[in-house]
Amino acid sequence: MKIGVLALQGAFIEHVAIFRELGVNAVPVRLPHELKGLDGMVIPGGESTSIMNLIHSFGLQLPIRKLAARGVPLWGTCAGMICLAREVTDSGLKTLAVMDITVKRNAFGRQIDSFEMDLDIPVLGKKPYHVVFIRAPVIHTIGTSVNILAALPDGVPVAARQDSILATSFHPELTEDYRFHKYFLKMASGK
Ligand code: GLN
Repeated sequence: MKIGVLALQGAFIEHVAIFRELGVNAVPVRLPHELKGLDGMVIPGGESTSIMNLIHSFGLQLPIRKLAARGVPLWGTCAGMICLAREVTDSGLKTLAVMDITVKRNAFGRQIDSFEMDLDIPVLGKKPYHVVFIRAPVIHTIGTSVNILAALPDGVPVAARQDSILATSFHPELTEDYRFHKYFLKMASGK
């Protein structure tokens, strides 16, 4: 199995390291030809405006959209989730628009723009999962074919899946609990 991690900007090294620790061939991806042969790809956290600008300048927009259309699993974490979304409610950012969700950037404002907590995420099993939010976006609306995988206690969705596309507002690559990475690997192996 080969997993690509988009390595234009942001927290890509952490994802690569975790996948490698899990025994997977994980590669940083920057150029269109590097998308060939991938069984899955992660768009990491960072700054969505910069990541999208670089996606456009590196000519990756269409190749990534084609990858998604072929059913190759994509996972966006934090800024990566913004890149996958159909629309950003509070800006005109031109996203990849491969997932039927709208998102709100920096949804927790300035005061508590970073926080951590334990959340129940049923697809990961009974043990709560520790989530790290850093100037995080939230999912604002979802299309009918999108399933919410996790929500905050007030009901705001922070993780969702639409077929082969996965999105999390938080940063699983900054914890030592690899259950989300394993969950994505199952998607990538077609299970
Ligand atoms: N606030 C960033 C953005 O809007 C996302 C932050 C992150 O990825 N940790 O792109």
